[in-house]
Amino acid sequence: MAPKIRRIRINLSWLYILLLIGIGWLLFSQSGANPQKIEWAEVKEMFLGGDIKEIKFIRNDYKGNITIKPDRLSKYSEKFGGKLPTSSPHFFFLVSDKFDAESEFGALNAQMPASDQVKVTIENQSRVWGSVLQWIIFPIILIVMWLWMLNSMNRNMGGGSMGSGQGGIFNVGKSTGKLADKNKVNVTFKDVAGLYGAKEEVMEIVDFLKNPSKYTALGGKIPKGALLVGPPGTGKTLLAKAVAGEANVPFFSISGSDFVEMFVGVGASRVRDLFRQAKEKAPCIVFIDEIDAVGRARAKNAGFSSNDERENTLNQLLTEMDGFDTNSGVIILAATNRADILDKALLRAGRFDRQIHVDLPELKERVEIFKVHMKDLKVDPNFDVDFIAKNTPGFSGADIANVCNEAALTAARKNKPMVDKSDFLDAVDRIVGGLERKNATIMTPEEKRTTAYHEAGHAVVGWLLPYGDNVFKVSIIPRGQALGLTWYLPDEKKMYPKSYMIQQMCCLIGGRVAEEIINGEPATGALNDLERMTNMAYGMVQYYGMSERIGNVSFYDSTGSRGYDISKPYSEQTAEVMDQEVKDLVNSVHEQTKKLLLDHKDGFVQVAELLLEKEVIFAEDIEKILGPKVKHEEKASKAEAITN
Ligand code: ATP
Repeated sequence: MAPKIRRIRINLSWLYILLLIGIGWLLFSQSGANPQKIEWAEVKEMFLGGDIKEIKFIRNDYKGNITIKPDRLSKYSEKFGGKLPTSSPHFFFLVSDKFDAESEFGALNAQMPASDQVKVTIENQSRVWGSVLQWIIFPIILIVMWLWMLNSMNRNMGGGSMGSGQGGIFNVGKSTGKLADKNKVNVTFKDVAGLYGAKEEVMEIVDFLKNPSKYTALGGKIPKGALLVGPPGTGKTLLAKAVAGEANVPFFSISGSDFVEMFVGVGASRVRDLFRQAKEKAPCIVFIDEIDAVGRARAKNAGFSSNDERENTLNQLLTEMDGFDTNSGVIILAATNRADILDKALLRAGRFDRQIHVDLPELKERVEIFKVHMKDLKVDPNFDVDFIAKNTPGFSGADIANVCNEAALTAARKNKPMVDKSDFLDAVDRIVGGLERKNATIMTPEEKRTTAYHEAGHAVVGWLLPYGDNVFKVSIIPRGQALGLTWYLPDEKKMYPKSYMIQQMCCLIGGRVAEEIINGEPATGALNDLERMTNMAYGMVQYYGMSERIGNVSFYDSTGSRGYDISKPYSEQTAEVMDQEVKDLVNSVHEQTKKLLLDHKDGFVQVAELLLEKEVIFAEDIEKILGPKVKHEEKASKAEAITN
């Protein structure tokens, strides 16, 4: 067997520690002996008293160091209160440049008997080492420490160079992207569940990377880049990786925010560096996550903008995308949650001219995503994946991955041999509402009752309105920040009629109205409901043209460019009318909801009391009290039929 070669790695922190110890030792060795200073008159007295063993006089320092005879030390120890050093020299004295050492010490020794004469050495001290220390070593130490500090600062700021993987102040202008070698991208389309449309669109890119001549032979040009647009966690990064994995090419990934640094000009230079490295590795995929961090539309009135650095970076990105040959084999994939706010120049033909929508998964896709993430879990064989997929509308792929992981952790915590339905349901609840605070004694009976009526208000209004929420569980066990929660399955619809919006507002205000009916006054628990309802009301009036007095106008700013404008695109009078319309709408919603709850007061009180008693109730419990849920299917399909 061939002997293994072990690489010895020098850890730089040891060097710094040794350096610090060295500095400490130098300082300590200079001050360690700590001899006491005395005057020349005292020296003479000691000398003639026969207490001195030796004097070393350093002529160029005008300084004498005195060593006392061991048997006389105690005499001085008492006098100097224990401050006297135990090792020599014990004292020192300073003199002026006029001091004639030979004659002064010669005269003193002449007065002493021959046996008591003091050994005196007079010399000049060499200053070479002092100068070396002062002029070479200290500056070196300072430079090393300065570099070290900058280095660690840079590392903390996420500095590092793509490819080399090393940080350092000198790499600040280098791209911080991560390169995954083609052998290391082990994600393929099999790992991406659902997303049929998106997968089909990126298939062409994979085909080009695998087989470029097929396209170039006919003179065709492959798009330089594609923009993956969709809500967070829907699998955009995963899809981009799968493209690289399927085509078996290297994968560069960088986040848009990595371009934006505190140093001016760094963003642009990182963009240049990214493209230089990508070209070297072509064919390859460059993935820019959160491109909106740099790609946001440039301000029209740039004079007022403080985003010059970001705009320079964006300009560089645009230039680089123009600069490389269409068929060079570098394909840029970028991801964003908001394509509408991106600069138009970025989206024009020849840049990110293709937009691939990666939407929240629908029921069938959710089933597949669950299956992908359950592969590694030990799941109860009787578990119905369709059931959990139905209970997770609006969940993204990342949420589903999280549910699976949480479910496995919950089952492990309960020492179960496998993960079952209740673990998955617990995990969903936990992700939707936060952790249950079962042991919280924070609620007084009064608060608990108000919470029960508040939640019952939401649930009953949702149950009775055709477009109301499909309530399936209500709880008054505190979770996260909330004291109670109503779970419902939202509609997976793409379009909502006005009556839907109004009834949803009724569901939101249902909790507040219930409090008013029961307690005669509102409480603060409805903050989140009111916030959502107000946003909905303003949305209806300002954006969707659902207010008669404002008419079919929309002040929605899809480009985000109006953010810099100080003036509003409507007059003061229109603003007042809009406010009044919102107020009228909310008042009418309040009245309708109050009437609905009062008309069904018996059922409403029964639901609330049952909730108070059991703490958690389900759709079946509500059905027993109020009858079957009022459905809206017919109305919904009618509304769709009109607009289609
Ligand atoms: P963001 O916009 O926040 O960057 P993203 O759209 O890039 O999010 P990803 O990082 O790709 O989302 O997804 C996060 C995780 O969610 C993935 O690592 C994967 O585990 C899971 N996931 C998302 N979509 C899917 C899917 N379609 N199939 C399987 N797993 C998925």
